[in-house]
Amino acid sequence: MGKVNILALAPQELRSFMVEMGEKPYRAGQILAWLYGKGAQSWAEMTDLPARLRQALPEIADTGLRPILKKQVSTDGTMKYLVGLEDGQAVETVVLPYAIGTSACISTQVGCKMGCRFCASGLPGFIRNLSAAEIMAQLLLVKNELSKEGKQLKGFVLMGSGEPLDNYEAVVSFLEAVQDPERLGMSLRHVTLSTCGLAPRIRRLAELGRPLNLAVSLNAPNNALRNRLMPINRRYPLEELLAACDEYAKKTGRRVTYEYILIDGVNDWPEHAAQLAALLAGRPAHVNLIRFNAISELGFMPGAPAAAREFARILRERQINVTVRRRLGTDIDAACGQLRNRYMSDIP
Ligand code: SF4
Repeated sequence: MGKVNILALAPQELRSFMVEMGEKPYRAGQILAWLYGKGAQSWAEMTDLPARLRQALPEIADTGLRPILKKQVSTDGTMKYLVGLEDGQAVETVVLPYAIGTSACISTQVGCKMGCRFCASGLPGFIRNLSAAEIMAQLLLVKNELSKEGKQLKGFVLMGSGEPLDNYEAVVSFLEAVQDPERLGMSLRHVTLSTCGLAPRIRRLAELGRPLNLAVSLNAPNNALRNRLMPINRRYPLEELLAACDEYAKKTGRRVTYEYILIDGVNDWPEHAAQLAALLAGRPAHVNLIRFNAISELGFMPGAPAAAREFARILRERQINVTVRRRLGTDIDAACGQLRNRYMSDIP
């Protein structure tokens, strides 16, 4: 039988596990404090546990923490980690140094089924879902790496490889652990879930009524273009997607962010900006414009900064809230999926 993954256990389950081991239930609280709060990497570091327990635990339990296989650091401070999983797979986790605080970008699947044309994560196809514990392991890895530099994590986005709402149960269970005062105790106000637009799952998430921020990867202002760039749009076209987003905003009180990656000559024309403004008019929305990170495998190119400025101007002129985001990590494999794809293709 495999070892018990401690990150997969809720506090009550960990208390029961301690009792099964013949220990007092409060030992669970000590272990949780070490793993989620104090950045312990091993059982040996948990010095307030009795020596017999520290010796017994490695035989039957795994901390659930995962190793760094590779790390890239950009000149702008973006850090990208390739995180090793137990079955030999790997996922990317990125640390982003924004002026308002350090954020992280966390993966939810190995590969992705959604096939967005501009994304490297989907290139190898879908491999598997991550468990809630594997998603948490990425967050703890980032938290621990930052604390070594005396920095804190301000928030994070579920925007790495994978479609979070396609791995709904694990993602919701992970978010519960994030909020749980006995584990991370972090407010979901600092967390953003990014989706390519699984409308029925957006509605389901809205039912939870959590203060989680929702970002929708939109990238096109009409169905014809969005069908070309994002196959999911054929299943849930813009009308259905935006209705689900409106419901999300209404039920959670959170304004929805629409991500729009500007791809040279494809979706960055002034008429696209005008169409986008018409689509979002009257909605509680914010648009993030991001210049495309060129991915050699995909054949798209980033547009000129002037095109991004003009696109933003047209949106502002029509009273749409918009931010042109800085491109981070352009000197490393910063578009999601690139580092993993390169690493996996290097393995004989
Ligand atoms: S953009 Fe997101 S949903 Fe689309 S293929 Fe990439 S990882 Fe999947």
